[in-house]
Amino acid sequence: MQKFCLAIHGGAGTILKEDMTPELEKEYREGLAAALKAGYTVLEKGGAALNAVKTAVMSLEDNPLFNAGKGAVFTKKGVNELDAAIMDGQTLDAGAVAGVRNVRNPVLLAEEVMKHSGHIFLVGKGANDFAIKRGVELEPDEYFFTQHRYDQWREIRDSDFYKLDQGSDRLVSLLKNKKFGTVGAVACDSSGNVAAATSTGGMTNKRYGRVGDSPIIGIGTYANNKTCAVSCTGYGEIFIKAVAAYDVSCLMEYKNFSLQEACEEVVKKKLVAMGGEGGLVGVDAKGNHALVFNSAGMYRAFQNSEGESAVEIYANS
Ligand code: ASP
Repeated sequence: MQKFCLAIHGGAGTILKEDMTPELEKEYREGLAAALKAGYTVLEKGGAALNAVKTAVMSLEDNPLFNAGKGAVFTKKGVNELDAAIMDGQTLDAGAVAGVRNVRNPVLLAEEVMKHSGHIFLVGKGANDFAIKRGVELEPDEYFFTQHRYDQWREIRDSDFYKLDQGSDRLVSLLKNKKFGTVGAVACDSSGNVAAATSTGGMTNKRYGRVGDSPIIGIGTYANNKTCAVSCTGYGEIFIKAVAAYDVSCLMEYKNFSLQEACEEVVKKKLVAMGGEGGLVGVDAKGNHALVFNSAGMYRAFQNSEGESAVEIYANS
């Protein structure tokens, strides 16, 4: 029987046990477990990988701990601009949005783009107009507000710093103490189809309509039944230069790397050499998974039909 599997992440970075309270750690683990359960239930019932990744990402978007949907970081102007993408590895159909406002679940809008726009990538006001046309659920600005994100932004809003960070109360530059709170999911279903989805608020204090890697097909998100499905989190600009997700797929397609080997080559060699801190989750069409990062930690979890599962945060647990 075809093995099926779901893997998710809630961001990577300088996530250290000594910076975490037991209560907060418990909340993160529960948030990951809830998203894993929601997505895995879809697979268990024989559902499609695409629905599983969408369901898992929606759960993480609704959780204020993670930098996606509710709880997204603030831009320089003090608003929330959201990016998301989804891709179906069976058809290579994909949908993505960037810089959208007030959309409760950006991953749902990305799916609408994939299925009903005739396009793949919509941005800004146009994407919001499309959300209204499709009846995608919107929320007022207050819905997205969380005190900790607001405080993070208030610390640096008058500076030129931008912050690839979530959860830390320290001012950080691009060079130290980075945390990346993007969320993502990849799945292989019982038919051997793979899918990937990623959603983010980007970086605190971002401006000029900055968009990172997350919603870009082939960079932060990619799925192809021939190889794998990948969702990334990390320093978006470097992931873009590295063409990260597609590079994993290419190593498998053209060089016969296994999923694990391909992920390690990109995350632990290529991205490290370029200064690209972060990680990714991947599955291949045989239901194998990889959770690979080059930072201190990555919020991550997986479950497969062989009865294996884990919810982990730090390098060793
Ligand atoms: N990759 C995201 C970005 O650059 C950040 C993250 O992973 O948290 O927008």
